[in-house]
Amino acid sequence: MRGNFIKPSAISKPSKRLGHIQANELPPLPPPYEDLNNLTLSGLKDEKIANIEASLDDTVAIGIPRPKNKEEEEKYIRAFLSGLRKLFEKKNNWGFLQPLLLSMEYCAKCQTCSDACPVFEMSGRQEIYRPTFRSEVFRRLYKKYIKPGGKLTSKLTGDIDLNWTTVARLAELAYRCTLCRRCASVCPIGVDNALITHEIRKLFSQEMGIAPKEIHEKGTLQHLRVGSTTGMNPVAVKDSMDFIQEEMEEITGYKLEIPWDKEGADILLLHNAGEVLAWPENVGAFAIIFQAAGISWTFSSEELGYDVVNYGLWYDDVQMARVAIKHAEIAKKLKVKKMIIGECGHAHKALAVIADRVLTGDLNIPRESGFVILDEIVSSGKIKFDPSRNNFPVTLHDPCNVVRAMGIVEPQRRILRKIAPQFREMTPHGVDNYCCGGGSGFAIMSGFNFAEWRTLVSSRKKFLQILDAFKGEPQDVPKYVCAPCSNCKGAIRDILEYYHAKERSHIYYGGLVELIVNAMVDMKKPMIKFDEESF
Ligand code: SF4
Ligand code: SF4
Repeated sequence: MRGNFIKPSAISKPSKRLGHIQANELPPLPPPYEDLNNLTLSGLKDEKIANIEASLDDTVAIGIPRPKNKEEEEKYIRAFLSGLRKLFEKKNNWGFLQPLLLSMEYCAKCQTCSDACPVFEMSGRQEIYRPTFRSEVFRRLYKKYIKPGGKLTSKLTGDIDLNWTTVARLAELAYRCTLCRRCASVCPIGVDNALITHEIRKLFSQEMGIAPKEIHEKGTLQHLRVGSTTGMNPVAVKDSMDFIQEEMEEITGYKLEIPWDKEGADILLLHNAGEVLAWPENVGAFAIIFQAAGISWTFSSEELGYDVVNYGLWYDDVQMARVAIKHAEIAKKLKVKKMIIGECGHAHKALAVIADRVLTGDLNIPRESGFVILDEIVSSGKIKFDPSRNNFPVTLHDPCNVVRAMGIVEPQRRILRKIAPQFREMTPHGVDNYCCGGGSGFAIMSGFNFAEWRTLVSSRKKFLQILDAFKGEPQDVPKYVCAPCSNCKGAIRDILEYYHAKERSHIYYGGLVELIVNAMVDMKKPMIKFDEESF
């Protein structure tokens, strides 16, 4: 299974398509899924792509309008060059200049990273998805246009024409990588191909206003304007939470009081608001655990205070900073001791790691992963558990941003070993995990046929891992993929649906807190009901 070799310089040569997904080149699925091996992408309809650039591959993530004339084309190229220059200036790139410079300097071309990349592998080794293909295009542009004397030496370092085709394809190509950083974790000289992808996305967003609409317009801008990327304002979110409280009591028989805007609480709990809409049982389960453990905690009903997502992490440092500062200001106003991040991987990295660059002084409020406090609660003995209530096969997905990026590997496992007698690991797992395929915004991007590309290619490795973890289990036994991250859950939901895994293998998915509550002795009724919608 090998895609055709394509040189980086081919990116500037106009053609109908640079890469192409073929069903017979994709790694095969095992029984009983063999009949789905012939699935491939629906074609992009000519009328839908008539005015946009769609010459990278068989899909479109952004949909950049084609320039109407030569002047417009040159304007795009000038803007690209201006953005490229700014990425390498200290005053303009306060986020990542140093690691970017290191990653630009040298690549040994050993291809260790390519062997680690699930997108490259699962695409049938399509050359354009090779981690080094995108990076090498960018490196050559940097060396030619930014490094002193670059134009003269570019014949030696590798020349690439900078034209509209190059610019438009590079923008799309930055959205064929999940930023999972598996490649970076294996590079022997520390090149970070994911960071290069991130910086390309940043250039397009900051200098050219180009980013997928789900991430920017419907994402960050809506978040800042309304209070949540879901579109929920504070009134709507409180209504939904009242409903969750009632439903949780109904489902579990446990009387629940959800605290709001409690000044001086120890903890401000922040969820991805997508949970409130799509997986309300996760929000309810957190509340039950915190209440049962006697924790002093609160939710915030202030705009943004109930939605910890921060899509800027994926494409634009300025947007990331705006949201992170707002989160910290809300915590400061409430005078809480710390902020705890629920089951949302990218929010972990945004708020607990990357926001360090902007949350200084009295905004530097302690920020911690929800996994750690859950581990402390489960280990403390404050809550009694009956693990036999979770006596079904359980496997664990490791969200890249929590596990590989932050090194939080053991707390969630310690919990599962205590409460899930049939827990088994995926192979590989921990910091060597594979992305769910929905990382870096992919889980919420659905324009054109992008969602199909995601399930077919970038999530394929995760699906194979899930099937492998449950290998040998009878088809009719219910199985649970514990995916403690909102975006990962979205991507895993989509692959399970796409391959009919619930019907064929009884595979279900959910978070970590639902399993914890399901095993609590105090619950009069089970929280997890296979074959039934909990809500
Ligand atoms: S592993 Fe590192 S040095 Fe080797 S090809 Fe990849 S980026 Fe280059
Ligand atoms: S970050 Fe992940 S998806 Fe992107 S090139 Fe590296 S391994 Fe591949």
